[in-house]
Amino acid sequence: MSGQIKPCHICGSAAWIREVRDLPGPPLYQVRCQNGVCVSNYAWQNAGDAVEAWNRRPDDAAMLAALRLAQQALNTAKRFKVPSVALDSYQIAIIVDNAISAAAGAKSPTSGP
Ligand SMILES: [Zn+2]
Repeated sequence: MSGQIKPCHICGSAAWIREVRDLPGPPLYQVRCQNGVCVSNYAWQNAGDAVEAWNRRPDDAAMLAALRLAQQALNTAKRFKVPSVALDSYQIAIIVDNAISAAAGAKSPTSGP
């Protein structure tokens, strides 16, 4: 068993393990971010493998470069707010900013004092 589930590597939120019983046969296991946005599409036959896969961190330099590209794209695109949609471009920008801070090892810009 791989032990504790690490926080989400994208947004830093807590993660939890979900038992998937959508298909016939034995259940599958999937680790999910609590914010419901950073979803892993992979399911595993045992909980330990699911946790181990989730806990594996992406390459930090590559992740940081990809996030900075996403941030640049968000900052140059026209912002929108749609009341009926759970996630708008402002919230996406905050998630990207937080992910960059986490990947760079800096304090999150949206966390309070
Ligand atoms: Zn997340």
